[in-house]
Amino acid sequence: MEPKKFDIVVIGGGPGGYPAAIKAAQNGKTVALIEAKELGGTCLNRGCIPSKTLIASAEALQRTQEAEEFGIIVGKISFDYSKMVSRKDQIVTNLRKSLEGLIAANKITLFRGFGKFTSPKEIKVTGTDNAIICADKVIIATGSEPRSVKGFPIDNKRIHDSTSMLELKELPAKLVIVGGGVIGCEFASLYNALGVEVTILEMMPAIIPMESPAVSNALTKAFKKKGIKIETNALVEVVDLTDKGIIVTLAGSKKIEADMALVAVGRVLNTSSIGLDKAGIAVQDNGLIAVNDKMETPVRDIYAVGDIASKWWLAHVASHQGIIAAENACGHTACIDYNAVPNVIFTNPEVASVGLSLEKALENGYQATLGSFPFQALGKSQAAFQTEGFAQVVIDRKTGQILGAQVVGHEASALIAEMAVAVANELTVECITETIHAHPTIAEVWLEAALVANDTPLHLPPKKTKKD
Ligand SMILES: Cc1cc2nc3c(=O)[nH]c(=O)nc-3n(C[C@H](O)[C@H](O)[C@H](O)COP(=O)(O)OP(=O)(O)OC[C@H]3O[C@@H](n4cnc5c(N)ncnc54)[C@H](O)[C@@H]3O)c2cc1C
Repeated sequence: MEPKKFDIVVIGGGPGGYPAAIKAAQNGKTVALIEAKELGGTCLNRGCIPSKTLIASAEALQRTQEAEEFGIIVGKISFDYSKMVSRKDQIVTNLRKSLEGLIAANKITLFRGFGKFTSPKEIKVTGTDNAIICADKVIIATGSEPRSVKGFPIDNKRIHDSTSMLELKELPAKLVIVGGGVIGCEFASLYNALGVEVTILEMMPAIIPMESPAVSNALTKAFKKKGIKIETNALVEVVDLTDKGIIVTLAGSKKIEADMALVAVGRVLNTSSIGLDKAGIAVQDNGLIAVNDKMETPVRDIYAVGDIASKWWLAHVASHQGIIAAENACGHTACIDYNAVPNVIFTNPEVASVGLSLEKALENGYQATLGSFPFQALGKSQAAFQTEGFAQVVIDRKTGQILGAQVVGHEASALIAEMAVAVANELTVECITETIHAHPTIAEVWLEAALVANDTPLHLPPKKTKKD
């Protein structure tokens, strides 16, 4: 087979790979993009977009259930889950078609098949398209799959991973979720809103253990109030199928029965079967490919981006890395900086954070303090009947620099953008207090929290002193 020659080849068309391909094409390079399944990767087809579309339906249902609060009288409220699923599928299909159009418009040659290195600059594609591709530079963006664990036999009927869970057409009455991380908690929140009895089993002492204790405690409290059962320090030994459903056995022999289980215990990286040995790239024990801040692997002219290239398993990080790799592959210089990565958990209430928590800032030697403000005290939150949660700003007491921020509450996902700009640009707390924030908006929460951090609260009473 005659090899096809390109300047740059990208393996994997997810949020890491396709932006890299577009950026390289914009730089005037000839680009090949190899995708084994669907363009858009996990994020568009089995992750961010399908899950958030279902979550949006659940939010609409909840808002309807709250109608009376607003003086609106509605009749009996019901919903059709299969229609929610069809809406999700339609949105994914539309977005995928747009992406296919974008790839074609940028004159990127798409190869549909599985790409495997045969040498550092040659990839063999097998599948719908069969080809040998030679390129001067290679960007690897092969992403990840749900982790399957011995003892939790995924059958896609009663024991699911996140991929098959998103394909469900009917809701179970009772669901056990193994894993209280981001994905487990998002699904717990979604199904709870749709009336499913949900139990989360988490082996760590808290759910979303990577977030600060204040944030994790706030979500735990909110979940419990909504009737989600949470068992922490719960080591699941085995999930068995029964005639009617499943039975989970915990260490210590406690058993929990349910109709269905979702196993959300992490992801496995797609680096074991892509011929990395032929490229001269060694993977680390956890499957990660080592890269520097230019996304370069130890092998010249080969870059790696996305889930396979850092601990940040987020679509927006993958895309940012993809652009950086493409810029460097095109002869420019660009470096990644992970100091201000916004992290969002689309639960109800939403959770978002960026930069350092108070605990991490103190650990890192800062004279850190924080200002926290409850949504309950904001006019807009009361007007919108969204008063749950708080926002907090972590600052360096010496310089006033904003080191991080956390928010639990309605629209946390949108709110965190202001603090991402602040942390990324090393802004001080005065930059926030001296910026006019529109009233009445929920973004005023940052102004109020910044004023608290500066010991000059406006809509909270002053701190008590010894004299008081
Ligand atoms: C349920 C769920 C919800 C999520 N929600 C969010 C969210 O709200 N926000 C967020 O930021 N992140 C979210 N994520 C994480 C996000 O989806 C990933 O971090 C992101 O998709 C990683 O992008 P990637 O390009 O590295 O890999 P992927 O998206 O996994 O894409 C890799 C692509 O490479 C292809 N591929 C693999 N091997 C080969 C090969 N050898 N040849 C050709 N093609 C190959 C795959 O088919 C795939 O299309 C979620 C994940 C899940 C599972």
